[in-house]
Order: sequence, then C-alpha cells, then structure tokens
Amino acid sequence: MTPMSISSATPAPDLTVQGAEVPDPHIATLVLLGASGDLANRLLMPALGKLLDAEPQRRGIELLGAGAEDWDAQTWTDHLKDSLTAAEVSAETIDALLATTSYQQADVTSAADLERLVKAAKPAPALYFALPPAVTAKACDALADVALPDGTVLVLEKPFGTDVASAKALNARLATLVPEERTFRVDHFLGRATVLNLLGVRFANRIFEPVWNNQHVESVDIVFDEQLTLEGRARYYDKAGALVDMIQSHLLQVMALVAMNPVGEVSAFDLREAKAEILRAARVWGGDPASASRRARYAAGDVDGRQVPDYAAEPGVDASRGTETLAEVVLEVDSWRWAGVPFRLRSGKAVGVARKEVVVTFKPVPHLPTGLTGACEPDRLRLVMGPDAIALDLNVNGEDDPMGIDRVSLDTQLHPGRLPAYGEVLAGVLDGDPLLAVRGDTAVECWRIVDAVLDAWAKDETPLQTYPAGTQGPEGWPV
Ligand code: NDP
Repeated sequence: MTPMSISSATPAPDLTVQGAEVPDPHIATLVLLGASGDLANRLLMPALGKLLDAEPQRRGIELLGAGAEDWDAQTWTDHLKDSLTAAEVSAETIDALLATTSYQQADVTSAADLERLVKAAKPAPALYFALPPAVTAKACDALADVALPDGTVLVLEKPFGTDVASAKALNARLATLVPEERTFRVDHFLGRATVLNLLGVRFANRIFEPVWNNQHVESVDIVFDEQLTLEGRARYYDKAGALVDMIQSHLLQVMALVAMNPVGEVSAFDLREAKAEILRAARVWGGDPASASRRARYAAGDVDGRQVPDYAAEPGVDASRGTETLAEVVLEVDSWRWAGVPFRLRSGKAVGVARKEVVVTFKPVPHLPTGLTGACEPDRLRLVMGPDAIALDLNVNGEDDPMGIDRVSLDTQLHPGRLPAYGEVLAGVLDGDPLLAVRGDTAVECWRIVDAVLDAWAKDETPLQTYPAGTQGPEGWPV
C-alpha cells in the first residue's frame, strides 16, 4: 500500500511544474556524497534497503558511495552490509545492492572529482548531498563546472541556508544547475506516516473540513518534545538550537499541511502550492516576535532515570552562544480561514515526558443545555507522531450521573507506515517526484518567519530561561 492509497483513483502525479516538464523522472544511480557519514549510515542506507524490500522491482538501482575516506571495495561493501543488516533488511535486497554498488574516494568540493562521479553513474543520477551544509554549498558551486546529464536530480538536506539571504543565494545557485522540480530539499518529516496521514484525515472524511476554520477552531498546537539530549551533536546543534533545528523546518512544514486549503489532486504542484500559500501568509502572532516566542535551555537533571549534565557543560558547547534547547513560537496565518487562530509551535530536548503531536482544539459549544452538569472541555483532535496514533477527545454523558458530563478519548493506533520517513523521501527521489520535497520559495518563507524571532533573540528581547532536564520546561510555560 502506498502512502497515498486513499486517493488511488487519482491519476499519477503531474510533474509539470510552472510549465516545465520533467524529461525522465526515473533515476538509475543514487550517488551518496558523504557515504561514511552519520546520516548515510544510520538513516539513508537502511531506508534504501527498506524501500527495496517493499518494492523489489527497484532492485536494479545502482548505489555509488562517495566520500573523503580512502576505502577499497571490500571496506565499502562491509560498511554498507553492516548498516543494512543492523536495519534488518532482507538478504535478497542486501545481495542485490551489493551486486550493483561501488565506492569512489572524492573531494566533493572539487569539480574534477564530481565530474568523475557523474561519468561513473548511469544516467540519470541523483546526487544526494549527505554532507555538512557548508560542504554542500561548496559542492553546488563546484557543480557549475560539471556537465550534468539530463534528468539529474540534486538532493539537499536541512538546514537549507542559515537565513533568508543565504537560502535565496543557494536557490539561485541551484537554479543554474537543474530545474526546480529536480531540486529536492529534504524534510523527512514530510515522509512520516502520521504527517502524511494529515491528508487522509482532513480530505478523506466529511466531518472535519466544515469545521476546519476560525469559526470552530480555537487553537492549533504542533509539539515535538523529546527526551533525547545533545547526544554528542554539539558541533551542529550548538549553532542551530531548537528553533532552527526543529521549528524552521519540520514544524512549519507540518503546520502548512494542517492549515492548507484542500487540494484538487495530491500532486507535487498542487500540494506544494497549497503549502506555499499558508507559509506566505504566516507571521509571528501580533507581529511581535519578542512576546510571541519563548526560549529556554536545560540544566542538569534526570531524564527517565538517566543523569543529564547541564547543557552548557556538554562537550563542544559554547555556553556564551546562549543556544536554546526548548523553543516556542506562536504564529498566525493571515487568511479568512485562519485569522485569529493561534498556531503554537514548540520543540524541546531533555524533557521528562516525550510529547510529539498535532492538537487541534475546537471552540466551546455555544450553549450547554440546562440540566447537563460538569466541566465541558473543548473537543480536541490529536495526531500523535510516534507511536503513530489518532485521538478525538469528546464530552459524553457520565456513567454514574447520566446527566453529568464525562470525558472520553476515541483513540486508535495508526499503522506505522510501510516505510521509514527516509524511505518515502528516497522513493520520491528515485521516481523524480518532488511531492515531498520542499520548494525553494517556501524554504525562504520559513526563514522569513523564523528570522524575525532570531533577530529579537539576538537583541535579547526574549529572555533565555532555564529548566531542569527531566521536566516539561520552565515553570509557567504551557505544555
Ligand atoms: P557527518 O559529519 O556525519 O557526515 C558528513 C560526511 O561528509 C562525512 O562522511 C564526511 O567525511 C563527508 N565529507 C565532508 N567533507 C567532504 C568533502 N570535501 N568531500 C567528501 N566528503 C566529505 O554529517 P551527517 O551525516 O550527520 O549530516 C549530513 C547532513 O544531513 C547535514 O546537512 C545534516 O544537517 C543532515 N541531517 C543529519 C541527520 C542525522 O541524524 N545525522 C538528520 C537530518 C539531517 P569525513 O568524515 O571523512 O570528513
């Protein structure tokens, strides 16, 4: 079953984007630049294995690993096999991949090395930049001197730039290399089963769309709080922080799916344009980033029985940077549908209880009939991201007092998805279908929204608070 199977009656996605047609969307070689890195090893290679398990007809794909390491063929195949075995990929897929894979040492910032890689790949290749962002930017510069075969796809990881200006500059560079519809800015949250499920829940049911607006919705919360701490990633995280790491990319993408207008077709053009409309209309609540945002950093504490040191004392952290590990921003979407509805986006590390969900809170009933007693809380629809679940919190008549109000939650686990999120991302890349890729203009919009907050924080207009690891954040914050 594909993630879009509810809409299986719709034709195949139209890849005509703003008038330009994709010549041949099928990718013959996946070139993994940065093949020895963490992303490649822990997420991409396992996801490719899972994709080939689910869709064995793809097993002819060539995997060309490339990186700084001077690895011989045996070292590479051992590395690949270890990664696939750890992910419990089937022996058939492992054998198939080992039969078609190869590795080349390369400096990916060198045009000559990139040219060699492209020539070694069967057309059309997908170049997946599993590299530090600064190296990816240099590799893109170097690609200007490389003749890319028709149909080449470029795949970029987050963070896409560091602000509006750098994201625009990167877009401009990429536009000289391949057309927009072959530029895949990855946000793997868009491949998560629960996030994809927003499409089915919203558009394959009659009951939600009529109330999905400011007449009936009080507020929307998009929360991704995790127990994980820094986990040795100071080099990246200490420069990013929770706002850039989570809200600028993943949570804004989820918000766009929650708030967008219904699409005529789940196609790359329609879906990405509908998301773009929302992101263009989004801004910090009341136009005041200082009061519409909060930030905090964890101090030493206990997360689920695990002693966690003060963030500032973690190896590789520069405490003077004031990096936040918990961020919250309240946004508004300037449109008829959403005017006046706060969208609260929040993400934190080292919390006591993980909470990863989209919560749509509905307005109170206009009148509670006399005779019904008890607290009448708002209805809530909750989409939980891992373990995937959906819940509808409702008021019903009580058990002991039949006229008293009781609260029930209609909840069910959702199927976890046929593939890990990166499997869905890779399926799109190999098909040349940018449905789940972030369009260049929306990457810039996300920075526009977040840059306003970063500016206020740089001026210290929003204080950096502290919370003990293992709690849900500073006292007084809504959870
Ligand atoms: P790593 O630092 O683990 O890996 C980067 C890889 O790039 C290494 O193999 C490194 O080789 C290689 N490399 C660096 N410079 C060159 C060069 N000039 N020529 C060839 N190879 C080079 O980073 P990650 O894998 O963690 O991250 C990669 C990207 O993925 C980043 O943009 C990150 O933000 C993103 N990302 C990562 C996630 C993760 O969980 N790791 C999750 C989501 C996104 P060497 O080590 O030999 O220098």
